Amino acid sequence: MGPIGIFGGTFDPIHYGHLRTALELLQRLSLAQVLFVPSARQPLRDPSITPVSTRLAMVRAAVQGEPRFAVDTRELERPGPSYTVDTLESLRGDHGQRSLCLLLGMDAFLSLPRWRRWEDLPGLANIVVAHRPGWQPPGQGPLADLLGRCATERPTDLHDHPAGRVLVTPVTQIDVSASEIRECTASGEDPRFLVPDSVRDIILETECYAR
Ligand code: ATP
Repeated sequence: MGPIGIFGGTFDPIHYGHLRTALELLQRLSLAQVLFVPSARQPLRDPSITPVSTRLAMVRAAVQGEPRFAVDTRELERPGPSYTVDTLESLRGDHGQRSLCLLLGMDAFLSLPRWRRWEDLPGLANIVVAHRPGWQPPGQGPLADLLGRCATERPTDLHDHPAGRVLVTPVTQIDVSASEIRECTASGEDPRFLVPDSVRDIILETECYAR
């Protein structure tokens, strides 16, 4: 059984930057599947995010039709802030010694030292970091040290080890962010071609980004 990719986010909304990155990582690293894990309450984010039900509906709509993508709602079912360390402990409990790969954009990787118990994360999963426009890999500090200890360029290492390896890899750079989509939609622009049509339909129906 191949590794399970874990792609967490606010997904407010999910967009082609998320989806294309997940698919490229899945194919290149021969992951068995990618779980999209929408967060309920992100400790480091503005609390005024779109209601869970709408964000979840958009994630479900986006992954439909790609059998290797699935939605995992454990953070939505848990009270309190959505800490990745809790999610990985819970997934580790479900999957025993199977390889887990936490998929992060470079911006998210660089914020890792602010995450709760971040130093425990490599013990629970491998970490895969996708380049993101405008963000450079760390040159020094705790993340550079982590890369010094754990970096690998071999996808097979992610199959052979259930956790503990860090792989940084380029992906097709799609310079879109959820905040830009919220802003352009709020100012009356059409988010078409930045998100799947099924996600656009939900944005238009719920008017979730209307000012
Ligand atoms: P926001 O603009 O609201 O901050 P976002 O577009 O960055 O949102 P998140 O839900 O915060 O989306 O991101 C979840 C994950 O997706 C993070 O690991 C982030 O690095 C990654 N990600 C977001 N946008 C892209 C993109 N365009 N290309 C690659 N990875 C991305």
